[in-house]
Amino acid sequence: MSRDDDAGFDVDASKFKRFSQRDDIYCRSFWDPTVHSAKSDVFYETYRKPLKHFRGVDGFTQNDYSVRNASWYVSDIFAERFAQDDRREGFLDEFSVFRGAAEDQRDVPSAFAMSNEIKRVAKAFGADLVGVTAFDPRWVYTHKYSAETKEEKPNELPEGLHNVIVIATSMDHDLIQTVPSALSGTATGLGYARDTVTVLSLGQYIRNLGFRAVESLNDTALAVPYAIQAGLGEYGRHGIIITKEFGPRVRLGKIFTDLPLDHDRPRRFGVKEFCDQCNRCADACPAKAIPHGEPSDQVYNRSNLVGVKKWSVDAEKCFGFWVGQNSDCSICIRVCPYNKDFSKWWNRLGQWLAGTWMRKLMLRLDVALGFGARRAASWWWAGGSKN
Ligand code: SF4
Ligand code: SF4
Repeated sequence: MSRDDDAGFDVDASKFKRFSQRDDIYCRSFWDPTVHSAKSDVFYETYRKPLKHFRGVDGFTQNDYSVRNASWYVSDIFAERFAQDDRREGFLDEFSVFRGAAEDQRDVPSAFAMSNEIKRVAKAFGADLVGVTAFDPRWVYTHKYSAETKEEKPNELPEGLHNVIVIATSMDHDLIQTVPSALSGTATGLGYARDTVTVLSLGQYIRNLGFRAVESLNDTALAVPYAIQAGLGEYGRHGIIITKEFGPRVRLGKIFTDLPLDHDRPRRFGVKEFCDQCNRCADACPAKAIPHGEPSDQVYNRSNLVGVKKWSVDAEKCFGFWVGQNSDCSICIRVCPYNKDFSKWWNRLGQWLAGTWMRKLMLRLDVALGFGARRAASWWWAGGSKN
């Protein structure tokens, strides 16, 4: 079986084009008049000025915006510290190296043992999931985006970084249940903060062993295909990775390195087959941005990857909804039947059954039992599921 078959990828090499980060919807919202608007400026401003744009509606109060914005504080510090040099680290640019590498390389007796060691350290540093895969140039951005010029700028990933470590941190289940709300964006901000701490610490550990490491969040390369190849989960209809442990409730980070490491294999547990039957995200999406039907190579706009047969989201519609409600949205994550607390054995059993011929029954049960329903933000403030 080829690596793409193993991962469930359907790439047409004759049509495939690598992606330029300038075409990412968030970058387009700054340079492309079809996406940028006065309202999108206000949308970003709400992440900086919670006192100015709150509403008197549950989930969108000053308190809700204040906690959401505070959750972004750590990753904002790193994103903004070299803004004067046209760098937005973690989002448009890889992280700068603050402290150099050891002069001598540690002896690595086996790639297998080193992989186990890296996973142990990554988890100690905060990762919930860790996988390793081979460098794949298809997922690396052709160019980065310059916030200063609003044009492309070179993506100069050093040669010889043959391995990619992918980490995932989980997002809070209770917070996600309050989507749509500004409060729920706290789960996203916290995910980025935890990813930042984890990739920076792990990258420095690798340098302390005398090897090279380039730490990255949303910058430099597409994270989802690397995460799937590294065995973290499967691709869902909503365009998000679905993990066994946390469903779609994860944020991803990655490290490019020359440290000798064993590679993980993609893990399939019936997500594609379940998504074929389930359309909850597509039905629930207020912007109608998620497709029904079979995966296809349809391209809605320049923010889609060309030459890959998959479920592709219309990012223009999605972002338009975010701007309209003045906060990011994760309704597709909230309603997904894989969005459960899998520390509970009955949810793990349900997931296992969802991967069998009983998937239709599990889907009906999921709806009947009210999974994926919205909780008020006031429920979270009152203690949420810990009550
Ligand atoms: S984030 Fe919201 S608007 Fe965007 S695809 Fe998901 S449900 Fe639709
Ligand atoms: S909501 Fe259903 S169709 Fe959408 S990603 Fe989750 S399982 Fe797949």
